[in-house]
Amino acid sequence: MIVAVPKEIKTREYRVGMTPAGVRALTEDGHSILIEIGAGIGSGIADEEYRRAGALLTETAEELYARGEMIVKVKEPLPEEYPRLRPGSILFTYLHLAPAPELTAALLQRQVTGVAYETVERADGTLPLLLPMSEVAGRMAVQVGAHYLQKENGGKGVLLAGAPGVRPGRVAILGAGTVGSNALRIAVGMGADVTILDIDPARLAALDEHYGNRIHTLISNSQNIEDEALRADLLIGAVLVAGARAPMLVSREMVGAMSAGSVIVDVAVDQGGCVATTRPTTHDDPVYSVDGVLHYGVANMPGAVSRTSTYALTNATLPYVRKIAASGLAAATAADEALRRGVNTHKGTLCSATVARALGLGW
Ligand code: NAD
Repeated sequence: MIVAVPKEIKTREYRVGMTPAGVRALTEDGHSILIEIGAGIGSGIADEEYRRAGALLTETAEELYARGEMIVKVKEPLPEEYPRLRPGSILFTYLHLAPAPELTAALLQRQVTGVAYETVERADGTLPLLLPMSEVAGRMAVQVGAHYLQKENGGKGVLLAGAPGVRPGRVAILGAGTVGSNALRIAVGMGADVTILDIDPARLAALDEHYGNRIHTLISNSQNIEDEALRADLLIGAVLVAGARAPMLVSREMVGAMSAGSVIVDVAVDQGGCVATTRPTTHDDPVYSVDGVLHYGVANMPGAVSRTSTYALTNATLPYVRKIAASGLAAATAADEALRRGVNTHKGTLCSATVARALGLGW
């Protein structure tokens, strides 16, 4: 199969859909890999590395889309990319079609098989192609929080590690899933005094078993959330209720009662946030203050660490790319139920009930 990887053109998207290791694996499998010149630059990958791994470098996106049988990307195509989508081709990328009627129509009209990373779903409900980005965002949340706690960045001037004879900084993490447990790992590593809260006792028990008395676990309820929010130097929002808006756990009043210079990193901002005062921000202007409490609400945190994110994402996507390339989409989806759930559009038909409902098309 001819697998093609274009350069991402969305503003400030520095990730790329395949690494040189992926090119090498697919080349060894007997496929041809086209990479658009400059596609890896934002992730620190030179054209020459792709060439050495066996890729054919392509001058223009038009040529790449024209020849590729499967296009592997990171972000959804933008309108200027729609005309390049070739009927019968497979598009494997984050698509997020539910809020995107124009893109959905373009894929249907152009008879593109759209396989969305975010809807590849295992039988246990886990989302293997979203997981790596939650791992990255969770780890980054503490790094970002530590940065903004510094005085010159607007924070209260607290070092999370403390110092000999000085109490470490206090971190409260709401949610002990992928984001929360990865944030916990970094906060513990930095030497902070960490409390993690969840409504699921089993998750807390697993973390308690792993970390012993180096952390505090608390069941998530209004009282415990308020107590911890008020004590925290850094509060991290990491909750998720699948398919729903994030639960609002920290009220406006609680934020007002936090000490000035504290920092809130609400990672759950992409689902509406779990703090009443959270709003989405961008990497260009990531923080704002409410009652002296700094809020960080970047909805695409992994984009800031593009190189790590590219490698983390492609580690997860490559096995699926190889399966599709090896046996074709029909056989690959017949053999892999998780991958089958990823197919959103095929031969002009919308295959996702969730997307159909969101677009008001019934189902
Ligand atoms: P997850 O499903 O692994 O974990 C969510 C956890 O929240 C679960 O353990 C659940 O029990 C817990 N929870 C639910 N309600 C709760 C409550 N009332 N109190 C305490 N805990 C509660 O999800 P995840 O992968 O960790 O993702 C968390 C959020 O981070 C999601 O909204 C996800 O979209 C978002 N996210 C954002 C970025 C970003 O760049 N901002 C990147 C990745 C993920």
